[in-house]
Amino acid sequence: MGSRKVYAVLLAVVVVSLGAGLFFGHAAEAKSAKRCVVVWSEGTAGTDVYPKDINGAIAEGLGSLEGWEVVVAGIKDPEQGLPDKLLNRADVLIWWGHKKHGLVRDKLVEKVVKRVKEDGMGFISLHSAHFAKPNKALMGTECSWGAYEGDSTTLKVTVKDPNHPIAKGVKEFTIDHSERYSEPYAVPEPEAVPFEGVHTLKDGREDPSRIGLCWTVGKGKFFYFQAGHETNPVYFDENVRQIMRNAVEWAAPAKK
Ligand code: ZN
Repeated sequence: MGSRKVYAVLLAVVVVSLGAGLFFGHAAEAKSAKRCVVVWSEGTAGTDVYPKDINGAIAEGLGSLEGWEVVVAGIKDPEQGLPDKLLNRADVLIWWGHKKHGLVRDKLVEKVVKRVKEDGMGFISLHSAHFAKPNKALMGTECSWGAYEGDSTTLKVTVKDPNHPIAKGVKEFTIDHSERYSEPYAVPEPEAVPFEGVHTLKDGREDPSRIGLCWTVGKGKFFYFQAGHETNPVYFDENVRQIMRNAVEWAAPAKK
């Protein structure tokens, strides 16, 4: 092969490579234009109710959200599931924890708080995550409920604020829920309470409490949902899944 031919072949290779680079570059850009929700849980829910843990069940319910990438993360993953690269591109972080709150590293909690307060990342805290470190740090209060009793059978959820975005398409519904949290809930006064509920106890008594509460913390939006005890299949319920989808859209920062 003459040297000219070699140059011609090399040139062709360079042109094709550049073209491919541009093409894949665009594809990557289009992909990153999707917003990102990370669903985090600690992996302590029983596999009889949650074969793919709670984060897996919630992610499944979020699957129909258009324009969203849904990422599942857990405490056993590298960097406790939230390496900087992922945390920094998350628009919303959903958190379920119960027994392992104490194992979550303070440094990670600091980063989560910063992302919410300074960058406007949305935070959704579920059930026993009221005592999770990021939940407490963002609320700045004890975050304790008046009582925790495993004596309920069902929870009837009612829509208190039908005009709230998180209540869109949601009507009153009842789920099996064997653990009730009783008022008062030691948190700052919420800006909105889209959902209230009534726990029915085994002896027939009823215990009402707030179920869905909203705040703004710094630049970020925060939603707490009280239902979600790990022995009840709460996150498979279509009403709850609608609430989770609405909450993700609501909590997300405005598109840049
Ligand atoms: Zn529970």
